[in-house]
Amino acid sequence: MAALLLVRVEVLFNLKLKHMAKVYKNDKNFLVIQMTGAEASGLGFGMEITGCLNSIVCGTCNTSIEHKDIFYVAGINEVLCKDCIEDYIKNMSHYTDIDSLKYEINHFNIIAQKLGMSEKANFSPDNKIIITT
Ligand SMILES: [Zn+2]
Repeated sequence: MAALLLVRVEVLFNLKLKHMAKVYKNDKNFLVIQMTGAEASGLGFGMEITGCLNSIVCGTCNTSIEHKDIFYVAGINEVLCKDCIEDYIKNMSHYTDIDSLKYEINHFNIIAQKLGMSEKANFSPDNKIIITT
């Protein structure tokens, strides 16, 4: 009985360790979540292939990214590769209208919740995006 309990604790601990999704902080305050291919597959990104990770391509450069770090950009509801998220942050301007920011916040919160993350996006009193835990 004790051995079985120990195995269960180890399984839970390992599952927690495999949970890699995190906020990808950036100087323009885009809401971005860095995740694994397994997590992105679990969310339904890409094309399903039985018995494998989904085939996932970067939304900008079309390279295969299911075995790389994947960056979910809430403002465009798209997944990008490492190179393209860096270009995106460098070259794009953040939306300023409330409806677009609501869209970004809502998508971030849906994906973060599905990934079991504690972070939640919201508006600050001066209508800027903030993340709370
Ligand atoms: Zn790319």
